[in-house]
Amino acid sequence: MNADLHCHSTVSDGWLAPAELVRRAAANGVTLLALTDHDEVGGVDEALATAAECGIRVVPGVEISVSFRDETVHIVGLGIDHRHPALVAGLMQVRRGRSARAARIGEALAAAGIRGALEGARRFARNPELVSRAHFARFLVTTGLMPDVATVFRYYLVRGKPGFVEHDWARLEDAVGWIRAAGGVAVIAHPARYRYSEAEMDELFDRFTACGGEGVEVVTGAHSDAEAARFATVARQRGLLASRGSDFHGEKESPIDLGRCRSLPPDLAPVWSRLA
Ligand code: AMP
Ligand code: MN
Ligand code: MN
Ligand code: MN
Repeated sequence: MNADLHCHSTVSDGWLAPAELVRRAAANGVTLLALTDHDEVGGVDEALATAAECGIRVVPGVEISVSFRDETVHIVGLGIDHRHPALVAGLMQVRRGRSARAARIGEALAAAGIRGALEGARRFARNPELVSRAHFARFLVTTGLMPDVATVFRYYLVRGKPGFVEHDWARLEDAVGWIRAAGGVAVIAHPARYRYSEAEMDELFDRFTACGGEGVEVVTGAHSDAEAARFATVARQRGLLASRGSDFHGEKESPIDLGRCRSLPPDLAPVWSRLA
């Protein structure tokens, strides 16, 4: 089993179309893939259709943006019915907020002397409802101002920098509720990325499990080995299902290719045991 349960297509901020992503995963030896675009399930049907051609299994997924304690937290939903009305309506509402936020990011960058950023970001976004900071970063690289996307984030797009704007994403309980209503398993994505104290991290996991969240990403492209070990312990202590995913966005931007993550510690209960 080579499960990769977190990746992005052009339907959000990935570089590959859903079909290309599935083919690349198959070529890399992935046997079970979840497409988890940000706040959007528009690529799932194409991914499912392509899976049938390449002999790999695809499960519908999503990565929902949530605001929790002054931080943006990502909740991955796996094995969802991507047509479920509550999920579809919830995601539409999150995307509406995203469009308004993109306009504010454009204004903030203009105030910092960078003109045309919203239009520039939109040119990189294949889905007009899904402009992400990654698209702004790609535009800023083309201006020659910054050498690469990671540097743009550091100087412009993170909290405290000129292109960062505060935003209210979905509530944790709502995001988990939409995923569960759609028959999916909710998973906390890349927990080591959240700048929380230990007490805040505990509170996130408490609230997440209280509303029906069941899993945590232990192995992800965003975790070091030490961070994976930390959240393997959390999974054991809390009896959570463990997930594994590259968070692949594209060759140039992702440290780990599809299906190339480390294995989960063998004593953990893998989330794919629930994705029948
Ligand atoms: P957004 O959902 O619009 O806030 O954008 C978040 C996305 O930006 C993430 O999913 C990544 O694709 C990308 N991103 C966030 N932080 C960084 C970073 N430090 N370097 C490169 N890409 C990043
Ligand atoms: Mn992304
Ligand atoms: Mn994420
Ligand atoms: Mn992601």
